[in-house]
Amino acid sequence: MLERKATSCIHCSLACPYLLDVEDGDPVGLEYDAASPVTAGGLCARGNLAYELLRLPGRLDVPLVRGQPARWPEALSRLADEIERQPAGSVGLVLGADATAEEAGLAGRFAAECLSGAPAAIGFLSNEPAVLAEAAAAPDVPETRLAELGKANVVIAVGDLFALAPVISRRALDAKYGARGNALVYLGRDEGLTARLAGMKLTGASERRAALALLRELPGAGKSLPADVSRAIEPFTKADLAVKGPLPAAAKAAAGAQSVAVIAASVDPVAVRLAKLIAAALGPSASFLAMTEAAGAREILAAWRPEADLAAVVKAAMDGRLRGAIALGLDAVSAAGAYGGALTKLPLLAAGACFDNPTTKAAGFVLPVKLWAEKSGTVVAPGLAHSYGWILRGLAREMGKELAGRPAAAQARPMSIPEAVKAAAESAEGPRAGWTAREPSDPALRAALAGVYVA
Ligand code: SF4
Repeated sequence: MLERKATSCIHCSLACPYLLDVEDGDPVGLEYDAASPVTAGGLCARGNLAYELLRLPGRLDVPLVRGQPARWPEALSRLADEIERQPAGSVGLVLGADATAEEAGLAGRFAAECLSGAPAAIGFLSNEPAVLAEAAAAPDVPETRLAELGKANVVIAVGDLFALAPVISRRALDAKYGARGNALVYLGRDEGLTARLAGMKLTGASERRAALALLRELPGAGKSLPADVSRAIEPFTKADLAVKGPLPAAAKAAAGAQSVAVIAASVDPVAVRLAKLIAAALGPSASFLAMTEAAGAREILAAWRPEADLAAVVKAAMDGRLRGAIALGLDAVSAAGAYGGALTKLPLLAAGACFDNPTTKAAGFVLPVKLWAEKSGTVVAPGLAHSYGWILRGLAREMGKELAGRPAAAQARPMSIPEAVKAAAESAEGPRAGWTAREPSDPALRAALAGVYVA
């Protein structure tokens, strides 16, 4: 029977909707969802790929144990045996960022109950936990409704919004051309799509520098900042932030607008913090939204916010603290960049994946996993592919544990306002350790992973 089903792309926090034609569980066609108030049916290249992946040749569809096809009971039982043979706490876990909140909750339980507190992480390709921690920190600012972005008088993009979520560009350009005096203001490096399309751009060595420059300029445009922000900015009012562009004009346009949408599209938590402070400083006319690379990041982190990140798992492998690792849904070897070799040398490596990649090539256990539309039940998965949750539950059962419930999420510590302002004024660098629980913890790793794991 032919059915039309609704689903969505999960490759960034816009979560663009689209429709799938499904015949007896098989995807046979993609239809754009023109009724969507945010995207009007648009999908970027990544969104179109989400459909094409569903029936791309070469899917892994059967578990492999040491290169030999196996049934699931045998694969899970042998993997459980090998985990139990390793010293307690020496098998790490990495979960793909396309996990559901329930799978993230299960992964937290699995790490605690079956891996004895070994380093475990969610493999976000960017800096989602830090970004979301800063976006949620006080002061409260109304969240931007993307369906109404086109009606804003001023859109302030901190970072390359159009590169992260190109489908949003139409709404932002609607806003820019909506009325005389409207503006699209870009804050960041002088590069990328948003910089090219913005009517006003304030560019500097980093997004954080440009954001601080605008924030500092706002009181002069006739608005007063919250007292704690003003106090934090005061020591740096004369600092040369080396920002190019029409700073007073941008501040005036923002302060004088009836409605301003401040959208952070940055992996730098300092820049995200400052973007939110810009919205707060503009008062009731402004709203704020932080965008990330993973659609469900907020829900996933609410279910499980691990203490470690991928860099910490890789470092544990490099330091000899790990004897094994389970990577479900993330090509951890590639994501670890120059340090991927530390994972391939582990005596025990299990890789859950849809397609072959460097991690499956090095793994003794290869576990076929479902894509998003398959685990959400929209289409049927090929062969014996299963979800991360199904695999973790089965593996736990083989280890004599029954996983249930959802652990409480640990809290990351967001930066204070003075910390963010000081960091932006004094340093042009990107993310730095220590502000949140899940920044890459080691400076050498952070540098090596730049552009690979933490952009
Ligand atoms: S903008 Fe984001 S959610 Fe939309 S199609 Fe592209 S990657 Fe997917």
